[in-house]
Amino acid sequence: MLINFDNTYADQLEGFYTSCESATSPSPALIKFNSALASQLGLNLNTLSEDQLVAIFSGNQTPDGATPIAQAYAGHQFGGFVPQLGDGRALLLGEVVDSNGARFDVQLKGSGRTPYSRAGDGKSALGPVLREYIVSEAMYALGIPTTRALAAVTTGEQVMRDKEILPSGVFTRVASSHIRVGTFQYFAARQETDRIKKLANYTIARHYPQSKEADNPYVSLLTAISDAQASLVAQWMSVGFIHGVMNTDNMTVSGETIDYGPCAFMDYYSPDTVFSSIDRQGRYAYQNQPPIAHWNLARLAETLLPLMDDDTERAIELATEAINAFPEKYAEHWLARMRAKIGLSTAEEDDLALINDLLAAMDGQQVDFTMLFRNLAVLLQSHELQDHQQAAYAQFDDAFLFKLWIDRWRERLSREVQNTHEDTDASIQLMNQVNPIYTPRNHKVEEALEAAVSHNDYSKFELLIETLSNPYQLQEGKEEYIQPAPEEFGAYKTFCGT
Ligand code: AMP
Ligand code: MG
Repeated sequence: MLINFDNTYADQLEGFYTSCESATSPSPALIKFNSALASQLGLNLNTLSEDQLVAIFSGNQTPDGATPIAQAYAGHQFGGFVPQLGDGRALLLGEVVDSNGARFDVQLKGSGRTPYSRAGDGKSALGPVLREYIVSEAMYALGIPTTRALAAVTTGEQVMRDKEILPSGVFTRVASSHIRVGTFQYFAARQETDRIKKLANYTIARHYPQSKEADNPYVSLLTAISDAQASLVAQWMSVGFIHGVMNTDNMTVSGETIDYGPCAFMDYYSPDTVFSSIDRQGRYAYQNQPPIAHWNLARLAETLLPLMDDDTERAIELATEAINAFPEKYAEHWLARMRAKIGLSTAEEDDLALINDLLAAMDGQQVDFTMLFRNLAVLLQSHELQDHQQAAYAQFDDAFLFKLWIDRWRERLSREVQNTHEDTDASIQLMNQVNPIYTPRNHKVEEALEAAVSHNDYSKFELLIETLSNPYQLQEGKEEYIQPAPEEFGAYKTFCGT
């Protein structure tokens, strides 16, 4: 068997999914196969011919041992509850276990209609397939928990999106699981407490085995998921990532980023940045991500109430306590990240104010989030301080606050040196490990997608992926990937386009 499937979801959770078959693609072609990831997962795919790979990743050939299923889930979409969503254009082929014992789902996305498709065609336009490939692999390289990209193919078919005829593709996604907050909500909406319990026990066994030993395993599960999300969203915020559609069906219980639709990285720092064209109210704006994660977790908590205690009052008390811990947990994760971003490995009381004052100095100015942080290390490092200082200041329309901030920061760093007995190089090293040079800049992603979709030219897509695979190291000849979007790129909007 090429892929050693071990399909626990299909085997243990009958009634949680519908078995389905993939649609066939008339003339599929391989765009990209992530052979490094395949090896990491222990898949024996690296000896296959391109035709064989295409057959598997287009859905034309179901590999031995796969049990394709569409998973059921519900979800709050922009605040409104939809009791049935589910995999409308995705199929879970099965699970694999890597050499470290870690279990992963292998899922086709864009593989045709399922019983959960509603009015949709079950297909994916090629653009979003490529976008998910680029951004999920970029997130992985940044060190942020995420689903991964195993393959992308074109199908030879076309789909209609917003009155446009577009080529379609199939994306193969790898995730530590596809269990979402919305998966719990699906059974809660049907008041199927036994199934919520089954799902919770399955989730504990798969993701949080230590919760099984806790006094109250379900409170412990909620706390563990909440912690994972607090850490995840703090990491998003630290690199300026905006998910775009933080509906409860797009939030994993594993703590991995999932469902890259209208997501984007912020260029100029502005807390109310929204890119998604469907997010008219700005519900999922940059600064709203932590409170929205908190809100989503409260929806998860509601589904777990019947498991927490037979006494509803007591259950609510326990759940409330677990959920109320989120803001503080998030703040801790965030502060730890932000401290590292300004070169601090020790903690002082005033660090929070120092970081917030930097952000306040950036707010409302045309300051590139990624570059500003990366340049802070250059400011420290350089012997010709003047030039670099000028360059950093030049980003600001008004650098007054930033100049004041630099002085305070230098003072704080000199105490850091005293306390740690390390020199400034340690701070510089720390900063360069957490402040990326290369993020998937919106105009570069668009440029790569446009060349691929409209001109069948994948050279930009390949180059972008290569550049983003090493985000913390300066790469020669890659200057164009560092620059913010040129002015003529205009205000950026992303479209779901699914
Ligand atoms: P998303 O907004 O991408 O997270 O998807 C929300 C829901 O819509 C999920 O249940 C998807 O499976 C479904 N969906 C999205 N696009 C399609 C499509 N082209 N065909 C069928 N279902 C879809
Ligand atoms: Mg989704």
